[in-house]
Amino acid sequence: MEDTHKQQLTAFEDACRKAGLRLTPQRIEIFRYLAEASDHPSAETLHLRLVDKMPTLSLDTVYRTLGTFVEHGLVSKVQTVESQARFEVAQLLHHHLICQKCKEIIDFQWQFFDDAALPETVRAWGRVERKNVVAYGTCIDCLSK
Ligand SMILES: [Zn+2]
Ligand SMILES: [Zn+2]
Repeated sequence: MEDTHKQQLTAFEDACRKAGLRLTPQRIEIFRYLAEASDHPSAETLHLRLVDKMPTLSLDTVYRTLGTFVEHGLVSKVQTVESQARFEVAQLLHHHLICQKCKEIIDFQWQFFDDAALPETVRAWGRVERKNVVAYGTCIDCLSK
């Protein structure tokens, strides 16, 4: 396991203890697989990857577990226009590129945007806690097909 994944897992175990979430083997495995994934998997994809190792794990459990993790801020849901939600372990602020053909989701950093002040009209609306960019389009691989 890479160091960052180990750190994420340790942080996860601490956060679970603080939140009073029981550390079940299923929860640990679901989190570990998500932490190691770089493709922002859906619950279905994650379930397919885990079911070999944990044959009794149901898709419903994966859904509910991810929901619990999102509620406790351990996992983020990626905003997509698809009906299937995609997930990632909550981490440093970043933005997403989504290919509408192959559905691949890629992370990118945009310091300029992160630092930029929002327009006056938005500030008048209330308090913004986070802002994310989701750019949709067609990736280079799909363009060249
Ligand atoms: Zn693509
Ligand atoms: Zn991401």
